[in-house]
Amino acid sequence: MEVFSDIKGLRQYLKSFQDQRKSIGFIPTMGALHRGHLELIKVSTKANDITVCSIFVNPTQFNNPNDLKNYPREISKDIAKLEGIYCDVLFIPDGKIMYRKGDILNFDFGYLEEIMEGKYRPGHFKGVALIVAKLFNIVSPNKAYFGTKDLQQLTMIQKLTQELFFDVEIIPVETVRASDGLALSSRNLLLTKEERNQAIDLIQALNEAKNKLYAGESVLSVKEYVKEYFKNESLIQLEYFEIVDSEFLNNIAHFKPGKRVSLCIAGQLGKVRLIDNLSLN
Ligand code: AMP
Repeated sequence: MEVFSDIKGLRQYLKSFQDQRKSIGFIPTMGALHRGHLELIKVSTKANDITVCSIFVNPTQFNNPNDLKNYPREISKDIAKLEGIYCDVLFIPDGKIMYRKGDILNFDFGYLEEIMEGKYRPGHFKGVALIVAKLFNIVSPNKAYFGTKDLQQLTMIQKLTQELFFDVEIIPVETVRASDGLALSSRNLLLTKEERNQAIDLIQALNEAKNKLYAGESVLSVKEYVKEYFKNESLIQLEYFEIVDSEFLNNIAHFKPGKRVSLCIAGQLGKVRLIDNLSLN
């Protein structure tokens, strides 16, 4: 695997592939790689001539300084994992390369910043968009792979790509889960053993909500059920549970089987914030 930490070196290396019209697949990450990240890379290596992964813990997307400080960093383990699945290129820039003194650019995603993750993590999507736009311009990928685990991020990146005419196809990849159903996340490393056991409450609540909707219960009563579940039966402090259309993420008032609907949830477990979602089609 070729490893670059500078923009010029990476661009020069990729140029010869671009000149030969080879396809480049790209997976931006913040590292502490798990099977979820590796799945994105595997999907890319199957579909492209060359796969580039980036690892950068992006400070502008953290609204909580402690979260940034505690975010797991495991670069040598990450490199070994990437080599193990034949990733072609790794880009690991440092903060001074990606953000320079005097930078002033700022994105605004309107209503997407006011709901769910946007509401609970002010500024988060501005930071994600900024880093993804920079990385797209550096790598110029043909395809970029994002997990549906971060559904709102995926929606925002699709908007970013369409509105700025980035010539890149955004490919969603299904959430990879542990055998008990917990969505894999780098933040799971920060859970104590007891918290790790409790963390499955998120997917359990989503599954129960799904069953209730299919059984004909109203959106309102399912939302009430989930709120009560977290009040009485879980260590997780629920931040939100929303039932939304999967494309624009607007709240829906009534559920009709066959429509693309997503159930989105977030909660705080000890010091760790976890999110998950389930799509119903
Ligand atoms: P992160 O390192 O958390 O910024 O994630 C990098 C990419 O991996 C994003 O597109 C995430 O949506 C994706 N991702 C994170 N967890 C999972 C998972 N469990 N399954 C599939 N993709 C994931």
